[in-house]
This record gives sequence, C-alpha cells and structure tokens, in this order.
Amino acid sequence: AFEQVARAADIPIYAVMAAFREDPSPMKLNLGFGVYRTEEGKPLLLNAVRQAEQLLVNDLSADKEYLPITGLPEFNKLSAKLIFGADSPAIKENRVSTVQCLSGSGSLRIGADFLAKHYYQHTVYLSQPTYGNHPNFFAAAGLAMKTYHYYDPKTNGLDFQGAIVLLQASGHNPTGIDPTAQQWEQIRQLMRLKRLLPFFDCAYQGFVMNMDADALPVRMFVADGGECLVAQSYSKTMGLYGERVGALSVVCKTTDVASRVESQLKLLIRPMYSNPPIHGASIVTAILKDRYIHGVYILSALQDGREMYSRWVTELKQLTDRIATLRQQLHLALLDRGTPGDWSHITRQVGMFSLTGLNAEQVAFLIKEYHIYMSPDGRINMAGLSSKAVPYLADAIHAAVTL
Ligand code: PMP
Repeated sequence: AFEQVARAADIPIYAVMAAFREDPSPMKLNLGFGVYRTEEGKPLLLNAVRQAEQLLVNDLSADKEYLPITGLPEFNKLSAKLIFGADSPAIKENRVSTVQCLSGSGSLRIGADFLAKHYYQHTVYLSQPTYGNHPNFFAAAGLAMKTYHYYDPKTNGLDFQGAIVLLQASGHNPTGIDPTAQQWEQIRQLMRLKRLLPFFDCAYQGFVMNMDADALPVRMFVADGGECLVAQSYSKTMGLYGERVGALSVVCKTTDVASRVESQLKLLIRPMYSNPPIHGASIVTAILKDRYIHGVYILSALQDGREMYSRWVTELKQLTDRIATLRQQLHLALLDRGTPGDWSHITRQVGMFSLTGLNAEQVAFLIKEYHIYMSPDGRINMAGLSSKAVPYLADAIHAAVTL
C-alpha cells in the first residue's frame, strides 16, 4: 500500500543536529538547536519548576483526568495575565479568548487554522528572515505567505490591506534584533492604518529585559482596543521544552465575539488531539499563581513559601545574564584577534540567538574544520556556548572569515 511513498527531505536543522551527534571530535560545539545549556553544556531544570513538580507530587487531591478541550482554566487565565498584564482592560472586559495549546508551535498552528477558516484574508506576512518553522504552520493551514523586510520603517512591504502579520514580541529568532518602543509604535500605527491583523509569537518573554518590558509590544496593540492573536510558549522561559505547554489568545472587540471565537477554537482542537496535556500546564499554573495572594497581584512573594514566581524570574535572569556575558566575551575575543568586520552586533543582539553574518560556506567550513555546528543561515544559539569555548569559537570564526 505504501510502496509509492516518496522520501521526504530531511528538516535542515535536524540534519545539522544529527551530524553533531555523530561527530566523534572532543572539541565539538553545538550552537544549532535553540535550547538552553549550562556553562557545562548540560540541560537545565529550573528550581522553580522542580519545586512546582514537588508540590504536584505531594498534592493528594491532584488527578490525571482529561482537561477540557481548551485546557486548564486557571492556566489560561494566568497566561493571559502574564502577557497582557495583570490589569489588562481586555481581560477585565472579557474580550480575550485563551486556550491551552501544545506549546508555541501548537498555538501558532491552531491560530493559523482559525484564521484560515474564519478570517477573510488568507495572506500572512512573515519577517525575512524568520524562525524556520513559521512558514510550515501557515502552509499547513493553507494560508498564502509573503515576507516583509525586517525591519525597515520606510518599507512598503506591509502595504496589503487586511493581511495577517506575524510579529515576534521579543528576542526575535533568528536575528536577535527587536524594534525599539518607538519603532513598535510606528509599526502599530502603520498596521492599524492598513487594517493589518497582528499575530504575536511570544516564545521568549523575560529573555530580553523582563516579563513586563518584553510584553510591551503586545500590550501596545491591545491598549488601542484593536484585535490581535498571541501565541505563548513556556518551552524556553521555564525550560519546559518537552512538556509542550503554551497558549493561544485571541483578543476580540467584545465578550460576545470572544466567546464565539472560543467555540470555534474548540471545534478545531477536538478532532486534532481532543484536549491538551495536564502536567506542564499544572507546573506553570503553580508557578504563576504564586504571584497572587487571594487574587491580588504582588510584585515579590517571598513570604509563606510563595516564592516560586520570584524564584522563576530570578533563575531566568541568571540565564539571560550568562548569555549577555557570553556575547561580550565573544565580541572581545573577535576584537582581540583583529577579525575583519564589525562584530558589535553580537552584543547588540538580544535573546537567545545571534545571527552572526556568517554565510553558508563559512558555516560549512566551521562544521568541517572545527566541529562547530549551527544552522545554515549562520544563526548561533548563544546559550549553547560556554566561556571556556569562546576562544575556540573566536579562532574558528576568524579562520572562516579570513579564508
Ligand atoms: N516561536 C519561536 C520564535 C521559536 O523560536 C520557537 C522555538 N524555537 C517556537 C515558536 C516554538 O517552540 P515551542 O513549540 O517549543 O514553543
């Protein structure tokens, strides 16, 4: 029955990672996949997550029943507050429909399917460049794709009435370049003028500045009363990669619309996977809940063992500080070597990634001669680097650009 099935091409980043695994060199360095690694190159389980899991294990009233189609209600409320702000008028006015999805990817895909079925415009604009999986979510939903230059305020690339525009709220993957607050305001005005529909991908909230500052672009678009979609992921921010926990929110103009949207989201989810997994959402809920005492939002909750939220934010800050240090070290090491070119973008870029500017040929050289693996577009995962590997990487980059 399946003899005629053709072999699909390898997915590029997975092919790079497979080559890394098979490389026997002791010097090998994995800067490909966007996952956090410690200075020792090990995965990291956050203490806040460990604590939340302990609570879940000890909670004798907890069960493993099916969640509703839309997920854990408390998780959805807390996720919405995290991204839109605890005092968000849109939440208070019940205009936001939030559903738990399978991490950022699932949220993007459900959002794309919703738009394909219920939005009149079927073109989505993606930044050029963008995260490699973005086009796949929208292609699978049957939407047409175009690109916009990232980022040029004078571009007429967005001149398409009503189109959907995918935006990354903070820590842009792969460029590591975010618009400033003023630039976001220009983008917002232009998009509202052209009646473009914003779809925010928020995979790195807290990775750049902090929880609130990184949510600013989303909150600016929500504050003007217009509509938008928001995909949230806890993969990177809580290190919950394999738990697949995230949420899709659709901000609407009225409560009635939001509830109709939610009824349609259920229709999309039910035949796809029926309902989302419970464990990761329970961990996130336990951590985020710690921010509130009797429903009141508090900045720091250190009393009565309610420290999980603060612990999470503190740990996240440690991760991002380590990445910032690595950026400085790499930049200095290239300056020391007199490597041709301006490498200041490495320290100017934010979030997990740096788009080094290395071309495909130079990347191939780094892999072959130095066993340093990265995606073919020259993007490196800064968190895959360690201080002790910086000189080696700098030597390799120097060799690659002076070939
Ligand atoms: N969006 C962006 C910008 C990403 O970088 C990623 C992960 N690399 C995702 C979405 C999806 O990740 P996940 O499905 O684990 O949330």
